[in-house]
Amino acid sequence: MKLASTSFLEFSYPVMEHFYTIQGEGAHAGKAAYFIRIGGCNVGCPWCDVKESWEAEDHPNTSVAQILEWLQDSDATNVVITGGEPTMYDLNPICTVLKKAGYQLWLETSGAYPISGMWDWIVLSPKRRKMPLDENYPLADELKQVIVRLPDFDLALAESEKMNEHARLFMQPEWSREEEVLPAIINFVKKNPRWQISLQTHKYMQIP
Ligand code: SF4
Repeated sequence: MKLASTSFLEFSYPVMEHFYTIQGEGAHAGKAAYFIRIGGCNVGCPWCDVKESWEAEDHPNTSVAQILEWLQDSDATNVVITGGEPTMYDLNPICTVLKKAGYQLWLETSGAYPISGMWDWIVLSPKRRKMPLDENYPLADELKQVIVRLPDFDLALAESEKMNEHARLFMQPEWSREEEVLPAIINFVKKNPRWQISLQTHKYMQIP
């Protein structure tokens, strides 16, 4: 047991950035959370706003022990693991250590790879370039469908059918297209009240 937890502390991930902020999107919008952005993603969304995360080698390998130290130096209780695409890595080591330390763990993923680790909240954000694995839909607590253009509404409906009945459904305009797609999103949600609108409120607040 001792050996396992020691090796988990030494396990490392290519961390692109880390910061304590306010979660701006989805079901936990408005809550304080410490973001750990893990580099590496081969999904290739053309509108991706973190393209600098794509190459894992560009980011320093950072041990779980170091990540824990960052968290303990803050007042954070919630941790968001995002990317990049974090599920390209074995997330058991980081989850085991951070759970033991008492943190709430929230995952943001495209669902394109198997989900490892133990999570308090999983956000699935399907991407056309690499759709989620079937096995990931029932695990997710929240569907976040980014709307770039009108055909994405059909995608959102099709994806919502695959979610479990308790999942929260959010539709979020892609930031650079917000002005064009928001009126259609408002109409959609009025017609489909199980859905909610998610806006990237951190961008309005000008925080990371
Ligand atoms: S899955 Fe996320 S990180 Fe990867 S390309 Fe798409 S938006 Fe960017």
